[in-house]
Amino acid sequence: MDQQKFWSMRDTGTLSKLAEWAHDEMELEKVICPANKGHQRGGKRLTDLSIALPGNRTQDFLWTWLSECLVTDRVLEMFKAEGFTGFEVKTVKAKYKRSKHTPPRLWELVVTGWAGIAPPESGVQLIKYCPSCSLRKYSTCLHPDKLIDASKWDGSDFFIVWPLVSYVFITDRVAEMICRQRLSGAIIKSPSELDFGGHMLGGGRLSWWMPEARAREIGEPLGIY
Ligand SMILES: [Zn+2]
Repeated sequence: MDQQKFWSMRDTGTLSKLAEWAHDEMELEKVICPANKGHQRGGKRLTDLSIALPGNRTQDFLWTWLSECLVTDRVLEMFKAEGFTGFEVKTVKAKYKRSKHTPPRLWELVVTGWAGIAPPESGVQLIKYCPSCSLRKYSTCLHPDKLIDASKWDGSDFFIVWPLVSYVFITDRVAEMICRQRLSGAIIKSPSELDFGGHMLGGGRLSWWMPEARAREIGEPLGIY
């Protein structure tokens, strides 16, 4: 299958538009490693998103500083009408940072589609693994054009590739609809244009991002659940 069938959907790169977590209203699992103090880290988010939005109006897509993707009611209805697959939504509590007006209802897009683990040709390699706390760190992606192995793709319109849990990949169908409807707040790029800035990847488990049953189904055989 042709690699160009797939796209990456990201925020627009305007940092001033990113939504902030309302930290005092959210709870995060703490990972404490019995073997290495340095592995202590925040884990699974235990509560739905609660966020503060900059500005006083929302776009069709919104993103948090941690790359969570949010959509409005209107966009969700469009996704449903098109019959797109590979996602669920969670409720979001949102307010504007500097305005008393109430934002429109927002939904967190939780991607459940899957295209496997980044293939070795992408340059992504497991470089650190701690059996005590399941910490897995991967080298950066050097060849983003090789990230998606179509033979591992489950056919979903929205999907992720491990360990790039915060990168939403979409099919041509979704990309075409977003362009046709001129939806705002998201940039669609070819995966080959992704730039990881040399950063290491990973650190978490699939169950931190995907619904429990789905994370178990995919992640258990791969040891990343
Ligand atoms: Zn550890």
